[in-house]
Amino acid sequence: MPLDFLKRKNTSEPDASQPAAAAPGPTGSVVLPEEVVAQDFQLKLYYAGKTSEGVRMRTGPQAMAELPSMLVGLAKSEIEVVEPLPIEFSQATPTIARPSEAMQWLNAHHIHSPITRHALVVLESIDAVDLAFDTFVCSLLDGEIDTSGYPEYNAIVGGVAAHWDEATGDMICRAVVGWGGRGVRGDTDRIGNKLLASLLTNILANQHAVGLTAIERPVPAAGRGGLVCAHCGFASAHERAFYCPKCGMRLLRG
Ligand SMILES: [Zn+2]
Repeated sequence: MPLDFLKRKNTSEPDASQPAAAAPGPTGSVVLPEEVVAQDFQLKLYYAGKTSEGVRMRTGPQAMAELPSMLVGLAKSEIEVVEPLPIEFSQATPTIARPSEAMQWLNAHHIHSPITRHALVVLESIDAVDLAFDTFVCSLLDGEIDTSGYPEYNAIVGGVAAHWDEATGDMICRAVVGWGGRGVRGDTDRIGNKLLASLLTNILANQHAVGLTAIERPVPAAGRGGLVCAHCGFASAHERAFYCPKCGMRLLRG
């Protein structure tokens, strides 16, 4: 039975004019070669980052306002503050093959500069910051940006990440740097270390700094999820939040 619907309607050219190359050979047999000649394709992405020890801050909820000042003298672009993500962005991930997560991520971060978005892609991918509970203050720290404003692979981005210690309610700050993309350069790691030390010095120089502390990420505590902060109205994306990630006040259980 002829498959009429496969024929294109083309009045100017009859079907016989189709390229003969597409037709099978006269014998109808195709011999497989001994070896397949493969054309290789690959992309190597390299993301790296470093975080320092934590610095305990005795400031109370006003502490957030102090964060941008810790980048002064090191920032090579505008200093941006990325706040913890509210509950509607709890699945946000910079992974384009997962459209729902990627869409949340874009909706949450399209307002930020290309430098901050690049920093978040790198640092979230390697799990150096977690916006479920971190506040992240970010800038370009070293290197160049391209004509679209995005950092080159060897440019170093970062700043200070802060979260509230679940045991004491103190703010814990840490220095964070990151870099990466389609390439690696040998001296980036060394420059990254140097910048990390400079950031840590700035954090420790803050008037509210008490001293170095081990960083313990907020741990799961069943039944505390989905709380809305009575002080600032923030609905945390962090199921474990004991202190409001945004304003640092203690969350009340309803
Ligand atoms: Zn709050």
